[in-house]
Order: sequence, then C-alpha cells, then structure tokens
Amino acid sequence: MNQKPLIIANWKMNPTTQKEAEHLFESVEKEVRKIKEAEIVICPPFVWLSVLVASARGGLAFGSQDCFWEEKGAYTSQVSPLMLKNLGCQYVIIGHSERRKYFQESDELINRKIKTALKTRLRPILCIGEEVRDTFDSQGQPLNEMSLKVGEQLEKDLLGISAAKIREIVIAYEPIWAIGTGFPCSSNEAMKAALFIRKTLAKLYNRSTADKVKIIYGGSVDSQNANDYIKGARMDGVLVGHASLNATEFVKIIESVVGQ
Ligand code: PEP
Repeated sequence: MNQKPLIIANWKMNPTTQKEAEHLFESVEKEVRKIKEAEIVICPPFVWLSVLVASARGGLAFGSQDCFWEEKGAYTSQVSPLMLKNLGCQYVIIGHSERRKYFQESDELINRKIKTALKTRLRPILCIGEEVRDTFDSQGQPLNEMSLKVGEQLEKDLLGISAAKIREIVIAYEPIWAIGTGFPCSSNEAMKAALFIRKTLAKLYNRSTADKVKIIYGGSVDSQNANDYIKGARMDGVLVGHASLNATEFVKIIESVVGQ
C-alpha cells in the first residue's frame, strides 16, 4: 500500500440543510482530529463547501463531487475546478457512476474534466467500474465484465495524461452493482480489480509509475468490511457513500482502518 490509507466521504446530495451539514462535519471532525494515520477527505455538496471550509479546525481535507471542464466563462450553473481549488479543496471526484448514468457523462468528457482539474492542481478521484458482477457463460468461461469495462475506461479517461500527472490521480474502483446496494464486492474480487488496474496502468505508463498510483475501493463500505479492502485486498483506501452520512459509523470505519 502507498503511504497512509485514504478515506473519502461522498455525501452525494445530502444533507439538505446547512445546520445538518455542519453538525455532521463537526461530529466527524471532533472524533478524528487526533488520527494522523489516515488521510480523510470529506466531499459535501457544493453549496455547503464554503461554510464547512471556513469552520474547519484541521485534520480533514475537502473534495468536491464534480467539476466543470473549463476554468471560467459563460457556462451557466457550472462550478469550475479553479473555484474549488481557490476555496480550499484538494480533491475532486470525477466520473462517478451516477454522473455517467444520470447526466450521460462520456469518457471523453471525463477526460477533459480530469485535465482541467489537474491544471488547477486539484487531485482527481477517477471513479471506474463495471455494471454487472462477473459471472460465467454457459461453457463455464468467465465473462470478464470487470476487465473489459475497467480497461476501456482507463484507456479513454486517461488519454493524453502524462506519467508525471497520473500520480496525482486517485483511481476509485467502484463496481456499480455494489454501490448503494448493501452487496459489497468480496475482498478477493477487489484485489483482482486492483491488480488488473495496476497492470493496465503499467501498460499505459510503466511499472514504477503504476506502483505510485493510489487505488481505492468504493461500494457498500461499512465499519465491518472497510479493513478487508485495505488489509485483505491491499487497496490504498476506501470511498464511502451512504455510511459517511452517519458520523458514528464513518468514525468507526476510520478507526477500523487505522487499527484503533
Ligand atoms: C458511492 O456512490 O461512491 C458509494 C461508494 O456509495 P455507497 O457507499 O453508498 O455504496
């Protein structure tokens, strides 16, 4: 594993009031400020970012859940990576499966967003993953859903990104069938995906570059299974959706990973 485990909270479109957002943030912050063995990143909705950044006392980093592909201009309603960087974000989630599905985000568009985010010195968290769990055909041959989808996404999403820049990107393996379903990927499946991702990065770049890229797992992570992905599947961290909205559970996830 590369350095400290990375634990990322994706709050998605929650909570719906500033008071609740502040309460959730403060509840996590006060419990984890003393934890130095993990890097913890909170990705709230855009509208709560400024207020939370202003109130933060340290120990937690910020990310956004998306960004636009230009730095500024006449693009009504869009949020630029430069704005997010200037606000105090260090990370940005790009290519989440919900963006791909509900907003028809293509790999080409995701590639543009990654390039602009890198230009503004935000670290992209690139989400990739297959829709259907790998099964076998009638002859007993594996269908290879994971390697086909993940291989294609890596090639297209990282097109034109240099070896120096790829190290800034975190790859989040998020099998769509495991997101929000309560049916997490087994640690064996996650390990297979992590190995495949590293092998693909070694092909696209080289082995030593591939070894430096952080690969994390997301999909129904909770305090019971988080450590299996880190210790068992040798992932560099976890991306937590639903369970990050419960401060007690999210703190337990962090504690389980750092061994407290
Ligand atoms: C996600 O959507 O990125 C995610 C990991 O969600 P959940 O933890 O709820 O499966």
